[in-house]
Amino acid sequence: MLHFVACIKQVPDSREIRIDPKTNTMIRLGVPAIVNYFDTRGVEAAIQLKEQFGGRVTVITMGPPTAEQALKECIAMGADEGVLVTDRAFAGADTLATSYVVAKTVEKCAETWGPVDIVFCGKQTLDGDTGQVGPGVACRLDCEQLTYVEDIEELDPTQRTITVRRHLEDGVQRVKAELPVLITALAELNQPRRASLPGVLRSVRYKPVVWTTADFPDLDRNKIGLRGSPTIVSKSWVPEARQVNTEMISGQTLGETVDKLLERLDESHVFEALNQV
Ligand SMILES: Cc1cc2nc3c(=O)[nH]c(=O)nc-3n(C[C@H](O)[C@H](O)[C@H](O)COP(=O)(O)OP(=O)(O)OC[C@H]3O[C@@H](n4cnc5c(N)ncnc54)[C@H](O)[C@@H]3O)c2cc1C
Repeated sequence: MLHFVACIKQVPDSREIRIDPKTNTMIRLGVPAIVNYFDTRGVEAAIQLKEQFGGRVTVITMGPPTAEQALKECIAMGADEGVLVTDRAFAGADTLATSYVVAKTVEKCAETWGPVDIVFCGKQTLDGDTGQVGPGVACRLDCEQLTYVEDIEELDPTQRTITVRRHLEDGVQRVKAELPVLITALAELNQPRRASLPGVLRSVRYKPVVWTTADFPDLDRNKIGLRGSPTIVSKSWVPEARQVNTEMISGQTLGETVDKLLERLDESHVFEALNQV
């Protein structure tokens, strides 16, 4: 049976984020929390593959107890199980410590529900925004990593291969890899479904599986939480808002508008600047 694991993070809704002008840190209090935008693509892809080939979808997150709500949202979409990995000892984790715990969780999911074939992560989160956790988890699990995936073209469970399209800066790459793999999802991968009524009803009653440090007997305490996080944020600041002057250019016809625009760009020495690039 195929086993898909989707890694999710609960993040503040970026449309509601404000910065404390005194401390220059994000004000999280009172900001609604959502499942990270890119992670919902991973969950949707896992559910679609399960619908096509059978199997199970396990959704995992390391976070505070409030992250339980994010797991319930994925259960409402159609995931089978949600695992919350939470413990004060995990708090303060940077991407190195997070990828260590997430990889350990994937291994424990494999022990509990069967070998894992595909791990899904988002390309990046909306708050931390590093994009490091997915590749870090793949390295620790010692499996192929397919990053920036915009389409899953084919999954062949018999041959145990997957073919995906990766969107890179200078083009598109088609890659075929052997399972197990870790995929990091782009927004273009799919359009996450709305939860169905039966899904919502199940999620209301659903209690996620909760694992703490006690559930990982071989955990290296030096690799988790603050102790396992060498990243130091030495300074943070809010960039100054740029002054932008806007000017409307219009004419009687499209041709006249374009002529006026070119004239205006010429006056502003835009073409000279471009020639020097
Ligand atoms: C008690 C507790 C409190 C925490 N509080 C905070 C907090 O206040 N702020 C904060 O930003 N983080 C918090 N974390 C989580 C952790 O510190 C971050 O998840 C980590 O630093 C990820 O960095 P990033 O956002 O840059 O991820 P990226 O590298 O940008 O994430 C890429 C992808 O990796 C996966 N991923 C990332 N983080 C997790 C995760 N935690 N669990 C499962 N999959 C994940 C997702 O699929 C994501 O799309 C907390 C964790 C615990 C246990």
